[in-house]
Amino acid sequence: MSIFDGLKGVVETDYPLGQMSWFKIGGNADYFVRPTTVAELAEVVKICRENNLPIHVLGFGSNLLVRDGGVKGVVVKLAGGDFERAEFDGTNLVAWAGVDLGGLVRDCVKRGLAGLEALAGIPGSVGGAVRMNAGGNFGDFGSAIESVTLMDNQGDVFEKSKPELSFDYREVNITAPIILNAKIKLCESLPQQLLRAFQEVWIYKKNTQPLSSHSAGCVFKNPRGMSAGAMIDRAALKGTKVGGAMVSEKHANFIIADDDCKSDDVIALIEQVREKVKERFDVEMELEIEIW
Ligand SMILES: Cc1cc2nc3c(=O)[nH]c(=O)nc-3n(C[C@H](O)[C@H](O)[C@H](O)COP(=O)(O)OP(=O)(O)OC[C@H]3O[C@@H](n4cnc5c(N)ncnc54)[C@H](O)[C@@H]3O)c2cc1C
Repeated sequence: MSIFDGLKGVVETDYPLGQMSWFKIGGNADYFVRPTTVAELAEVVKICRENNLPIHVLGFGSNLLVRDGGVKGVVVKLAGGDFERAEFDGTNLVAWAGVDLGGLVRDCVKRGLAGLEALAGIPGSVGGAVRMNAGGNFGDFGSAIESVTLMDNQGDVFEKSKPELSFDYREVNITAPIILNAKIKLCESLPQQLLRAFQEVWIYKKNTQPLSSHSAGCVFKNPRGMSAGAMIDRAALKGTKVGGAMVSEKHANFIIADDDCKSDDVIALIEQVREKVKERFDVEMELEIEIW
């Protein structure tokens, strides 16, 4: 008998989680759960609480390194069903957590709705983009968000709106474990003008980031007023390798993984880079990626 007896269709055990991440490396999850309704998700949360099982919420795994030993407890992925809806009403949009951010940005551009075009080329889900306040030089997701709907660890659903909801550099003050959706305020604009803005951001990203390699984007956050990538570059670390992991030649704050790479190689390389930057600049770099 399994603790998830009533939810058999949406639960898998010993699931190859690493393959669900952009790095395409790392071990298995004890339980991998894909609920398709909010009620099913609440049931999963309740079972986890009753059985003292930790929950990790997976988006598209584009900011994530899964350890070789895998993840204990339950990994929940919000995909399909309730979780992939994007509901447009004039300039208001409710985007559910499992929606593909890239597709959503393109859809807004086509509809002549401005507000998300600065996020062109950022991989991931809406849930992950809220949690990380995804963005860059051109703007961030938080600027367009009015409120979010969340689920707490009792399975209860509630809303958090601005000004209580506050976005910062790659973070947001959400403590609830699950983001269900985001209410986004867009404004009308000319599709041609939006397309140009979208292309400008996209071309910039394509020219500066190794988008076709296995990675999790920028490994380190930029320390206040400094560029992590520039410091790694000036410490002459581009091209440095540990096993199958390498500091990208194209963008020094990216670590890319080849087909034989282990998560341990990436972790060892992260430590090496961190130490060298500390030696050279006396700066402690904080991780932007998550390690599970
Ligand atoms: C090639 C490349 C380029 C990138 N460029 C950028 C960039 O320009 N700017 C930028 O900000 N990022 C960038 N990233 C990083 C990444 O795309 C973003 O952080 C993205 O928002 C992560 O979304 P995700 O769905 O993949 O989240 P995941 O990696 O799956 O998860 C990230 C975090 O969000 C949490 N999470 C995900 N969904 C939910 C949910 N529904 N509820 C609660 N928590 C949730 C996870 O638990 C985890 O803590 C890049 C990554 C790659 C691989």
